[in-house]
Amino acid sequence: MILKNVTYIDYITLKFKKSNIKVNTGIDAGIEFIDKISDNEKNIIDCSGKYVTKSFAVGHHHAYSALATGMPALKKTPKNFYEILKYIWWKIDKILDKDMIEASALVTAIACAKAGSTFAIDHHASPYNIKGSLDIIANAFDKVGVSHLLCYEVSGRDGLCKATSGLEENEDYLKSNQGLIGLHASFTVLSKTLKKAVHIAQKYNTGIHIHVAEDKYDQEYTLKKFNKRVVERLNDAGVLESSKTILAHCIHINKEERKLIKKSPVYIAQNTESNLNNNVGFFNSHKLKNKVMLGTDGMHSDMLRSAKYSFFAGKTYDNIDFGETYKRLRRVNDYIVENEFKGDSDNNLIVLDYNPHTYFNEANFLSHFMFGINSNHIEHVISNGKLIVENRKLTTVDENEIMKFSKEQANRLWEGVKN
Ligand SMILES: [Zn+2]
Repeated sequence: MILKNVTYIDYITLKFKKSNIKVNTGIDAGIEFIDKISDNEKNIIDCSGKYVTKSFAVGHHHAYSALATGMPALKKTPKNFYEILKYIWWKIDKILDKDMIEASALVTAIACAKAGSTFAIDHHASPYNIKGSLDIIANAFDKVGVSHLLCYEVSGRDGLCKATSGLEENEDYLKSNQGLIGLHASFTVLSKTLKKAVHIAQKYNTGIHIHVAEDKYDQEYTLKKFNKRVVERLNDAGVLESSKTILAHCIHINKEERKLIKKSPVYIAQNTESNLNNNVGFFNSHKLKNKVMLGTDGMHSDMLRSAKYSFFAGKTYDNIDFGETYKRLRRVNDYIVENEFKGDSDNNLIVLDYNPHTYFNEANFLSHFMFGINSNHIEHVISNGKLIVENRKLTTVDENEIMKFSKEQANRLWEGVKN
């Protein structure tokens, strides 16, 4: 495929370059800047007046929460973080069957693609349909054309048997796929399970993906039950040893815990809107700046939106500017590169139809990134060299059919939640 008359924005240097781009198809196949387009070339997209840059990646997602969009209010209104988990998410995840998991993954992958993300790091829970659940999600993402790094959320909240099945699902999946070992959070993971999870992660040379001190409850329970703070406990168990490890949230961490994270190679996934929605507090990057990437925590799939929220909340609660916000948005790409995961090389691109009312150039890119560009400007999306979104429509799947299927599954889920 050739992108003709492009203004290319290098996502690292933020330099603008006018050129034609030859996009090679396949994982890690790359791109070439070319002066002349051969007469035989048929697959040409005219990008005159458009901007092309690297696509985004989601640092922490939950496809399994997708069917909760529009769900009627519950009889009992949760009063705190623990009740939000107990009355909403731990109720929903128990109902999820194979069709619901597939629908959730398909609509999430579509939403990611349309918002310019061609890679998603997901954390999945379906305690009554654990076996094979990660394959269902992987197939759905592959069908849409979004690359992925999946894990099953292991937890003792539904008993030791479910925790063991969760570990098995992670291990089975890792035998033939890139992935992580998922753990829910310190307060629902027993020491035996934690030990086994780290052992499997080491065996498959991967990391742990876990929620960390999202709410005070995680710290209070961990201190009471295990006589340690959350990060201290994870450090003692060996969780912090891998650069593939992702600690989501890290809201309620103290000075010592910051030090432990700082000297480790792990990454943090910040999810501002989810933190606001759950009323758990605000993220602060003190001492941890070069480790922070962004996620959506299953609230949506729009990374530009996540970036903006992190900036606005950070004006009061963090030390953040335009440049730092952009770095956090792009740190997921750094994470993928550093850890040599597949599916996020240069032939993952977005074409922006952005014609603002003020001048736009490399000198003021960051200001336009904060206040001008949003996902509505994403016209085409290229994943591993393949055009998966053309004129804001999926090319790989029939969206109408999937939305119909998804509505049917959501209805079934909501009926289940009511009972
Ligand atoms: Zn999460």
